[in-house]
Amino acid sequence: PQAGAERRATKPGIPNVERIVAVASGKGGVGKSTTAVNFALGLRDLGLRVGILDADIYGPSIPRLLDLKDKKPQSAGGRLLMPLEAYGLKAMSIGLLVSEETAMVWRGPMVVSALNQMMREVEWGHLDMLVVDMPPGTGDAQLTMAQQVPLAGAVIVSTPQDLSLIDARRGISMFRKTDVPILGIVENMSYFIAPDTGARYDIFGHGGAEVEAAAQDVPFLGAVPLDMHIRVRSDEGVPIVQAEPDGPHATIYRDMAARAL
Ligand code: ADP
Repeated sequence: PQAGAERRATKPGIPNVERIVAVASGKGGVGKSTTAVNFALGLRDLGLRVGILDADIYGPSIPRLLDLKDKKPQSAGGRLLMPLEAYGLKAMSIGLLVSEETAMVWRGPMVVSALNQMMREVEWGHLDMLVVDMPPGTGDAQLTMAQQVPLAGAVIVSTPQDLSLIDARRGISMFRKTDVPILGIVENMSYFIAPDTGARYDIFGHGGAEVEAAAQDVPFLGAVPLDMHIRVRSDEGVPIVQAEPDGPHATIYRDMAARAL
């Protein structure tokens, strides 16, 4: 326990921010950012004060997902920046501060120093939860983040495919090694319901993430279908939980948020 306490002491939290939670995936393209924004909106719907921090240096997508592309963060005096706001979320993205080409070549320590700046030099106000959209993978940058960012937990996003699950397993093991609790696994693109016939297709297989969650003894947070509405709403800059609050997808994300709490 003493070693744990020491490790925690090297990761000072952010004043006024109760919990920092990472949304991570073993590889890109599985829907990590889509999950992160809709999960954050699900937490908002549960009554929490929520911020979202886009730390995906390899492809920051929160500005596009929240329709903030053309916004510039304003100074809050001194070194502090005001976060942007969208749909009741406070938001900040590495993509709003440095060019993608610059950030892409950063090593882990530089990513962490930029991330620390975004966490600590942004006037977040009082947040119940800060959701961090992590860069995909388990390389040097991710490991440094897992070690040095004071994370209260991590949500792992995977498709049902074996390959994605193998990468997800690596992610779980990385967080375990750095003493970050796994809040659970989400299976994205879990199934497809044909809108014309109602027939169901398991395009990438189905249920793999739930089996993996059981095998790893971590909670399963929910299965999100592959659905064109989710993609279209994201492209429009109004995530599905915001755009269709009474629809079936919003319920899935709200349940996911409730399970992760
Ligand atoms: P990642 O952050 O893992 O790279 P994204 O969240 O950017 O992945 O998603 C990749 C692409 O897949 C985006 O075009 C997104 O709109 C789409 N997408 C993600 N999840 C779903 C889903 N459940 N249904 C349909 N499209 C999805």
